[in-house]
Parts: sequence; C-alpha cells; structure tokens
Amino acid sequence: MKILESLPVLHESSPRLILSQIREHGPIDRASLARMTGLHPSTITRIVTSLISEGLVQEDGEGPKGLGRKPIMLSLVPEAIHVMGIAVESTFVSGILVNLQADILDRMEFRLRKQDMPSVEEGMALVIDFLLEKARERQVDVRGIGIAMHGIVDNQDGVCIFAPALGAREVPVAATVQARYNLPVCMDNNANALALGELWFGNGKGLDNLLAVKVGNSIGSGVIIDGRLYSGSRFWAGEVGHVTVVFDGPQCKCGNYGCLESVASIEAVVTKARLLLKRGEGSDLLALTGGDPDALTFSHLQEGAHFGNELTMQLWDEVGSHLGLALVNMINILNPTKILIGGDILPVIDYVLPKARQIVKIRSLEVLQGTTSIEKVGLGSDAVAVGAATLVFKELFEA
Ligand SMILES: [Zn+2]
Repeated sequence: MKILESLPVLHESSPRLILSQIREHGPIDRASLARMTGLHPSTITRIVTSLISEGLVQEDGEGPKGLGRKPIMLSLVPEAIHVMGIAVESTFVSGILVNLQADILDRMEFRLRKQDMPSVEEGMALVIDFLLEKARERQVDVRGIGIAMHGIVDNQDGVCIFAPALGAREVPVAATVQARYNLPVCMDNNANALALGELWFGNGKGLDNLLAVKVGNSIGSGVIIDGRLYSGSRFWAGEVGHVTVVFDGPQCKCGNYGCLESVASIEAVVTKARLLLKRGEGSDLLALTGGDPDALTFSHLQEGAHFGNELTMQLWDEVGSHLGLALVNMINILNPTKILIGGDILPVIDYVLPKARQIVKIRSLEVLQGTTSIEKVGLGSDAVAVGAATLVFKELFEA
C-alpha cells in the first residue's frame, strides 16, 4: 500500500515534481517553477490549478515586482496532509502527529515494560491508537505511518533485520502495522530517519551531503549523499558506532574490540564512571548517588557536568575525543558539509562537542580543515520521530 494511492492528483510524476519544488523553494511563483522544472508554462498553470483545487497548494499573496506585474506566490497548505511518525528505541516507543510542515500537533510516549518485541508491539499499538484518536478529534485524516527503529532495517520491505537491544531478528514490522491499521507504512533505521528529518526540516535543510549521528546507548548514523539517503548493500551503511577507535579497547556488543560504541555510548560512560567511583575517584560525584557507585545513572552525569564536576567533565571530554576520532574517519570517506549530532546525548552535548571539534581539526587532512561543521541536530529530542514522519513525506514528494 502506497500513500500516493489516496492522492490521485499526484499519480503522475510532473505534479509530484512541482509539489516538491514548492515545498523546497516556496513561496515561489509559476514562472520560477517553469524555469526550475523545465516544464512548459502552460503545463505549470494546469497542474498548479489542479493542486490548488485538491487543497495541497495555496496562493500566498504577491511577490516582488519584476519587469511585468507582480507574480502570485505559491506555497504548500500545511494542513493538507497529516502523517504519524513513530520512533522505536530500545527503552521506549514515541509517536507524533504532524502536518506537512512537520509541526507537531500531538505526541505520546510509552516506556517499554521489557526490552523485547512483544513490549514494542504493545507500545506501538498504544501510541498509534492514541494518535489516531487525536486525529479524529481534530477531524484530520492520517495518510500514513512512518516508523524509525533501532537496529538494522530493510527499508524496502519494512523488516527489522536485527535489533540487538530488543533481541529481535527478521520481524516484518511494517506489514503487521499496515495490516492492523490499513494505512501505508514506511520504515527505516532510526539514525537514517534522523538524517532525513534534519535534511527536510532541521539543521541540514538544503544540504546535499550530510552525516547525522545518533548517540545514545547505541551509536549509529544516517548518511545523505547527493541529497539522498545512502543505505549500503545490506542496510548497514553509516554504522559509525562500530568504527574502531581504540585498537585493544573493551569488547563491543558486536563482538569486535574498541568500537566507538564500546567507549562513547551513554551505557559505556556510565559503566566506566561506576568503575572509577568504586576505585575511590570522584567523591563529589559519588555524593550525588547517595554513596552507591552502582546507583549512578546518566542523569547523575548530566548533573555532575552542570556543576562542573572534574571527573564528569573528564568523562565527557573522553567521549568527545573518541567521537572526534570516528568523525575524522567518516569525514575522510564521505566529505560531508555538515555533521549533526543528536540522540539521548543531547543534554550533555555542549560538554562533548568542543573536544570532538578539536580532534577533527587536528586530525583532518589539511585541505579539508574547516570544510565540515559539527553541530547538534535542529529538531532536538523529536528528531527521530520527525524523521519517521518524513519517510512518508518522501514517498509522497519524490518522483
Ligand atoms: Zn561494535
């Protein structure tokens, strides 16, 4: 089932092309659309008329005066289409209802009872049912559901190939959701969705080459090359979490040693901090936990950083070093214009990025220095869910 089935006006490629140009460049006039698409002005006029009558496009006042009369500007109608974006992480499922501008109208989050697929299915059903009810209250139709999931995802068939934190293999998630709700479903890995959401609506808008890295208990990235997501031959592209950064470092969940994820994931930092507390270091940090090293959590390491606790700052600095090293490798291979960092790390990102940038500066090829900026995502903690919704929009707009 495709989202386009419910929108006959977009069955042909020219209307989709025009709609996507209006999305990217609007408000825009008809003459500029003709110039950008290469379509004949009379074709533009005819298609724009049908897009307006279908409620997808609106006339948006007059533009600046050129040689002739002032042109009428066109823009998308944000409320014309609504979709749902669902983020399936290792500990929770969250969902949002958005319009064409990715404005979030409603949201819902469910903490998983257990880290397994039955709990994920329970969470997805609750979140989707809740958002469908909200859509009914608002009297809007939901046109599709986008799912961004932890692990390796076959984004063609919507299958979770492997989700290590959930102990899942070969689960046809998209088909199940589609059958239950009778709605089109698009699915991809959460880091890929993050990259796509940032490309369309966040800090990556208008860029052709972008890397978006999601740092949490696992680490992954979405790679945008020439304006498109790059998935690799078996959907494994961008797995920056498994780039080796310490030759004989700790063993990673993947089996390798010294992967970025084994030293820079939140889980790895918490484990290391507990170990250091047990060795008698960081008495100020220990006090925050009530004196029990094993009670230390990520929130203590946020608090410690805000207080300027020395051990905590040193730990986040080390994360910056390891992340920076992995990013240098990615920069040398992909040469992105921007690298965006998001995920659960966001509350402490300002303690991590300066070191990461410094390492990148020191270790980059001289000719590449200063050509890649490293920033945080623009969509904050909603970035993955917005990205999930964008998976559906992509089907709609891309010819
Ligand atoms: Zn690994």
